[in-house]
Amino acid sequence: MPLDALKGQAIRLFRERFGAEPTSVGFGPGRVEILGNHTDYNGGFVLPVALDRAVAVAGAPLAGGRIELTSALFEGIETAQVGQFKRNEKTNWVNYPLGTLKMLAEAGAPVGGMRFAVASTVPLGSGLSSSAALEVATAQLALTLYPFAIEKMALARVCQRAENEFVGMNCGILDQFSSIFGERNAALFLDCQSLEHRAIPIGDDDVAVVVANSMTKHELISGGYNRIRQECMEAAEMLGKLRGRPATLLREITMEDLQKHETALPERLRKRAHHVLTENQRVLDGVAALERGDLRTLGRLMFESHASSRDYYGNSTPELDCLVDLAKNAPGVIGAKLSGGGFGGCSVSLIRRSQADAFIAHIKKGFQERIGLETEIHLCAIGAGAHAEKV
Ligand code: ADP
Ligand code: MG
Repeated sequence: MPLDALKGQAIRLFRERFGAEPTSVGFGPGRVEILGNHTDYNGGFVLPVALDRAVAVAGAPLAGGRIELTSALFEGIETAQVGQFKRNEKTNWVNYPLGTLKMLAEAGAPVGGMRFAVASTVPLGSGLSSSAALEVATAQLALTLYPFAIEKMALARVCQRAENEFVGMNCGILDQFSSIFGERNAALFLDCQSLEHRAIPIGDDDVAVVVANSMTKHELISGGYNRIRQECMEAAEMLGKLRGRPATLLREITMEDLQKHETALPERLRKRAHHVLTENQRVLDGVAALERGDLRTLGRLMFESHASSRDYYGNSTPELDCLVDLAKNAPGVIGAKLSGGGFGGCSVSLIRRSQADAFIAHIKKGFQERIGLETEIHLCAIGAGAHAEKV
């Protein structure tokens, strides 16, 4: 569904649920990482793209600091009050937008009352980061209703803080950064430690992104994400001690440090470190390849990234492995890997758009034959970043 149609859907939902007219719509696109799996919270490098799939939040101001929110995906209208933001233990989805408003207010924004209705073309819990898209779309709306000047990176931090401190999900900055900084037909490089970033063109409309669902859902908060993150920090600390120069993030550890001291680490920590360090290098190599227009090398690096996630990070599944394996021999493929948290969710493939139909048919048939399930496939363009529009 194009963004215009999504905007219409958000507006209609607002009218239906509130019996009133919205004044603005905020958009936050979903994202996939092309390279840089689980590197962000280790202070490493990432190479994501924003997609032409987004969360759209239609809203209007409301008096008295009252907040009323609703989503096409859930029944009813939830309420809250500006200045008294509390976690909603019953209806978890509202914590993403409420956390965003709370953190925006803490950053100095004059957040006031509002009603808003959420519509979306970003599938939930599939590795496209619907949660960041929702936070970013909420922020765009709030900044339009109650104007406040804030730099894009500071806004990404505000949204990340909402998810870290209010929702309780310890994600890095990758998702919110991608949603805010997205550019049409460009990949985004980010150094998660210095926050240096730039956009690098990735073909014209001839390159498309295929997201294929492994049909196995992940529940990141209760699942392995926070634990793995903790293990990375332990690995950094141990390696820092072993080399005689303290470290808090794996980014501060060099390949030489790891090679010299890895035998002293428990196997699990050694593998985490190996993945993160080699993945950081793959991002740098991928950027260099893109800058010389070498999509072939970028694609090879994506397959290597998948193998590293699978063998060292342990966040792949047989279904994800199957999708990536099928992509290897599919018409028009450039590269493929698992995307996002892993443990289920989606694979991401870069492909030639002219061969999209044949590529998708190959994946669908193979997945049905090998796994016995129908995979859900999204053919996406590389889209622009977050913004807001008047109704
Ligand atoms: P991901 O970000 O990979 O899609 P998460 O588990 O981080 O998965 O975030 C998904 C959660 O975000 C949902 O369970 C829901 O609470 C919230 N969310 C995302 N999109 C919407 C939406 N359109 N309406 C309401 N809540 C949403
Ligand atoms: Mg998320």
